[in-house]
Amino acid sequence: MSIKRPKGTQDIVPGSVEKWQYLENEIRKICSDYGYQEIRTPIFEATELFQRGVGETTDIVNKEMYTFLDKGNRSITLRPEGTASVCRAYVENKLYGQPQPIKLYYLGPMFRYENTQAGRFRQFHQFGAEVLGGDNPLVDAEVIHLIWEFFRRIGVKNIKVHINSVGCSVCRVEHRDKLQEFLQDKKTDLCHDCQVRFEKNPMRILDCKNPSCQAIVTDVPTTLDTLCGQCAEHFTKVQKLLTMAEIDYHINPKMVRGLDYYQKTAFEVIAEGIGAQSAICGGGRYDGLVEEIGGPTTPGIGFAMGIERILAVLENQEKDFEEDAEGGVVVAALGDLAQQEGFKLSTELRQAGISTTMDLMGRGLKNQMKFANRQGARYVLIMGEEELTKNIVIVRDMSLGDQTEIPRDKILNYLLEKRKNSEFLL
Ligand code: ATP
Ligand code: MG
Repeated sequence: MSIKRPKGTQDIVPGSVEKWQYLENEIRKICSDYGYQEIRTPIFEATELFQRGVGETTDIVNKEMYTFLDKGNRSITLRPEGTASVCRAYVENKLYGQPQPIKLYYLGPMFRYENTQAGRFRQFHQFGAEVLGGDNPLVDAEVIHLIWEFFRRIGVKNIKVHINSVGCSVCRVEHRDKLQEFLQDKKTDLCHDCQVRFEKNPMRILDCKNPSCQAIVTDVPTTLDTLCGQCAEHFTKVQKLLTMAEIDYHINPKMVRGLDYYQKTAFEVIAEGIGAQSAICGGGRYDGLVEEIGGPTTPGIGFAMGIERILAVLENQEKDFEEDAEGGVVVAALGDLAQQEGFKLSTELRQAGISTTMDLMGRGLKNQMKFANRQGARYVLIMGEEELTKNIVIVRDMSLGDQTEIPRDKILNYLLEKRKNSEFLL
């Protein structure tokens, strides 16, 4: 019997893990540049958190949650997204008592019971950020700018930023009425999900992916038609700031996004060239959410992006990840005694912070050189019996293709000197 990984999950093995590490480094860097601090919350939470925090009419809560009873009969759910957990942690740790806004980011696995297909997994990974406690349009613009700048830094091309305002609890009521009135006699033509949405959260019919629903909503009243004065002003200010920041955005009045609690600004980033699952980032303002899960009235805004989909875009656009991957030293020791000496040398180099690999398989010299080549090593340190007697090491520079003999006790300094002169990548 061979045991396989569960459907919709992936092993991230060497060869591709370097791309993940690259993105993770860029994420940590940009978050630090924009003044966001990391938050780590549990992978599982009480089911109720998501029911209340993501919304009972969302696909996530209705269909996609990994929910089970634990041994104490508590209903537990593997987190399908990050916002609800971050808001819970904000309340539970009384972060509202600190100077506002609180700017947080997270990076980690999420779980949704989805029909798996390209770009759609059951365990996938998100980088997300949340700003809690700030309702100024500056916050919205800063968040969207972080996303824009992130994609610029990692070299994603051809992205579209869609923005919209879905209004607040005041103007949404007017929109809801108008929309229900408009859809009343077309109700039976809507898909099953939208018929449920019609009663519970009709706005979400606007971005149903079903082609027949899309045809019905072509001329539907949008939230932009009914924005109250405050929401309209907020949206205008956000647009002004985005224009100032030279972000190429598009207003999409039908983009309303999943979360039940979105208010005012909603946005999505679409990438070209990765097929159907082209949404690489989504987010919005959720000013009622913290209160909904038991905290003080707190404005909030955030986004989440799917790492797998970003990698798919970068691969599709043929990004070269290899550039910085090379470097380090391979110790090629031949024979028993030389191996012992090689082990000692490796230890010294590693203690000095030099990335060192030693052959552990007893390969011959030719195969060790091949191995070093595959590793992308910059230097190979060759030692056989003859070198041991002469107390030297042969240093082969793999990039120049030449070699030189260095006394055994000078080898560390020799390499450190090379590193100082930047001839040496670690
Ligand atoms: P979709 O419309 O593709 O189902 P969504 O609206 O459910 O996306 P969000 O909940 O906004 O997605 O999550 C933010 C991002 O996380 C998405 O833009 C996408 O890049 C990624 N994502 C969501 N679900 C998955 C999944 N099952 N597999 C891989 N990535 C995903
Ligand atoms: Mg989804």
